[in-house]
Amino acid sequence: MNIQNYINGKFKNPKQDSWIDNFNPSNGEVYGQIPNSSQEDVELAYKSAKTAFSSWSKTTLDKRSRILIKIADLLEENLQRFAEAESKDNGKPLSLAKAVDIPRAASNFRFFGNAITQFASESHESIGQDAINYTLRQPIGVVGCISPWNLPLYLFTWKIAPAIAAGNCVVAKPSEVTPMTAYLLGEICNKAGLPKGVLNIVHGLGTQTGQAIIEHKDIKAISFTGGTSTGAHIARVAAPMFKKLSLELGGKNPNIIFADCDYDDMLNTTVRSSFANQGQICLCGSRIFVEASIYKKFKTDFVAKVKALKVGHPSDKATNIGALVSKPHLEKVKEYIEIAKTENGTILCGGNKVTVKGFENGYYLEPTVIEIASNDCRVNQEEIFGPVVTIMPFETEAQVLEMANKVKYGLSATLWTNNLKRTMMLSNNLQAGIVWVNTWMMRDLRTPFGGVKASGVGREGGFEALRFFTETKNVCIKY
Ligand code: NAD
Repeated sequence: MNIQNYINGKFKNPKQDSWIDNFNPSNGEVYGQIPNSSQEDVELAYKSAKTAFSSWSKTTLDKRSRILIKIADLLEENLQRFAEAESKDNGKPLSLAKAVDIPRAASNFRFFGNAITQFASESHESIGQDAINYTLRQPIGVVGCISPWNLPLYLFTWKIAPAIAAGNCVVAKPSEVTPMTAYLLGEICNKAGLPKGVLNIVHGLGTQTGQAIIEHKDIKAISFTGGTSTGAHIARVAAPMFKKLSLELGGKNPNIIFADCDYDDMLNTTVRSSFANQGQICLCGSRIFVEASIYKKFKTDFVAKVKALKVGHPSDKATNIGALVSKPHLEKVKEYIEIAKTENGTILCGGNKVTVKGFENGYYLEPTVIEIASNDCRVNQEEIFGPVVTIMPFETEAQVLEMANKVKYGLSATLWTNNLKRTMMLSNNLQAGIVWVNTWMMRDLRTPFGGVKASGVGREGGFEALRFFTETKNVCIKY
């Protein structure tokens, strides 16, 4: 199935008639083509957004809210279709796309449709000076939203919904590896009555289409989720143009397990936090540190549970682990397993490509657990972003805190303990934007979301996202 750009409410072929193959990771076959959009297509999208801005930015909050909530309703009505498209494009289990990806994309629209009606600004009465200051939070204009392949529609809409709720018009680019649900979203936006030009979706390579968005002199803000090196590149291009930037980047998150935790809950959640979505979630706890007194038991129980996970075709109901997103990504993950062997790592389970009957060319890999000899080894320091975790024991709180923080990333951390003092000490001192205690990936869309260090700058979520997508202006009136 071929897909098209969505510009000014219409579906259009790329100007230069250039196309990229779209692969189905479950069988390795090309199943369609996507536009290889050029700077000309981005310009067209920009112009359409710019034209729409004067009216959309003045549209009442009630009307904006109703449209966003309508998009949410329509996504829910089309859950099966969207989930099937997401699973086919990405390789993730259909059950996961149905339970997580598409419902969350709908929630993003519903949440920001409601949030915008509650978004307020401050006033400061300057007592003794006969003046009042008030703050305006005005839409920026045309903004760029660029998203990755791991949670395609989920992360794409996490940016678009607050951007348009706040009154901006958008030029958006999904990952070229997983463009399908973004394409389908255009149809839903038209049905929901989103005025033409408010959202424009251009497909294509990051280095060409994405580059044209970040270089565009009149796209004033860029919200980006993706790899750390791409984020650094975007910052280099955008900073001299004084664009507003939100960068959600890579992670290498510690999962710290103490002997006093609720063991069964910890074990089941740790399997999920290690391998959900084939380990391709920026929040996965890929570095597991276990208190020495329960290390042996944990190792035995964890490996047994991981071995029981079923790797299979994404649409098979019994599948726990689907296909990795692409052939180059599968190769990259396999390479790290080889690196582990050269670093005195012990492969406790997994490590091999899986051949699924009938889908022999799909990108399947066994979930892999590596026991490492040192915190500093590459497999424990570099983002692998696949079904691979490392485990090692620790003796003291101070030691595990030091190891957890000794990494360039700082997105999330998970802590398993029932000790309050320890919880407070570690959650205060872990270098991460998000700390989960006795749970993982429990999300409340009102909370700030983002990372420190090489995991990014800025926060998404709740009013933080609406603040990002608005310019703040103070007005001082002397009376
Ligand atoms: P990526 O950086 O390769 O690509 C992300 C997006 O950026 C894609 O749409 C791509 O086309 C585009 N892009 C690439 N080069 C560009 C350029 N020069 N200019 C503009 N756009 C460009 O990342 P990926 O491989 O798609 O995703 C995986 C990465 O995303 C991992 O590192 C993961 O940790 C990270 N991620 C982070 C979060 C978070 O919230 N922090 C969430 C999900 C994924």
